Amino acid sequence: LERDALFRKKHNIHVSGSNIPSPLQSFAELKSRHSCKSYLLRNLAELGFKEPTPIQRQAIPVLLSGRECFACAPTGSGKTFAFLCPILMKLERASKDGIRGVILCPTRELAAQTARECKKLVKGKKFYIKLMTKQLAKSADFSKQPCDILISTPFRVQFAVRKRKLDLSKVEFLVLDEADKLFELGLVEQVDAVVKACSNPSILRSLFSATLPDTVEELARTIMHDAVRIIIGRKNS
Ligand code: ADP
Ligand code: MG
Repeated sequence: LERDALFRKKHNIHVSGSNIPSPLQSFAELKSRHSCKSYLLRNLAELGFKEPTPIQRQAIPVLLSGRECFACAPTGSGKTFAFLCPILMKLERASKDGIRGVILCPTRELAAQTARECKKLVKGKKFYIKLMTKQLAKSADFSKQPCDILISTPFRVQFAVRKRKLDLSKVEFLVLDEADKLFELGLVEQVDAVVKACSNPSILRSLFSATLPDTVEELARTIMHDAVRIIIGRKNS
């Protein structure tokens, strides 16, 4: 659509792929176009988010439409909400039937930060958000504790999976955050183990990064199906 093209140009959004959903004009469209629950809009307002950032405008409708994506947008441009928003909307409510969302971050600090942001977004709504800690990775009864979204470094999830303490076969959403760092030597094998453990055939994968080197893009393409590529600004700025 001509209108979408102009709007993307205005916000420096570059896309490739077939049938890409229209970017969000405003957060109000989350409700009008995608029937977003009011708790999430209320928490957004409380956080002071007034307008979606460019990556949020494009990645949110893409993921909500059930398409996989890999996205490159600068540091500080709101990538966390770009993946948390569609996951929270799609999961709808807490469940005790196993882990449905996994977010991989390259460091413990980033995982903790992402878990904090996620908890702010679900304020007033029941959801089981878990940050994987050392103790949790080792605990025998991890699978008995309810968990909707698990946030972790690849090392800790891969360790728990290997020890048969974690079942990822029902995961519906897998996010690789800061993928340029996740795909660095030493981490990439752990990421691969987690990707394999998430064996649900209808899983939706996404990848977010501040830079998208060709090697990362190639790896992304081997993992994903019919993915939409979203670049904000210039590719590796
Ligand atoms: P990135 O992962 O791209 O580096 P973050 O997701 O950490 O960026 O977001 C950076 C900061 O911007 C955070 O403090 C976050 O709460 C805030 N933020 C995210 N989206 C918006 C928005 N739409 N409006 C205002 N602030 C936002
Ligand atoms: Mg980030």
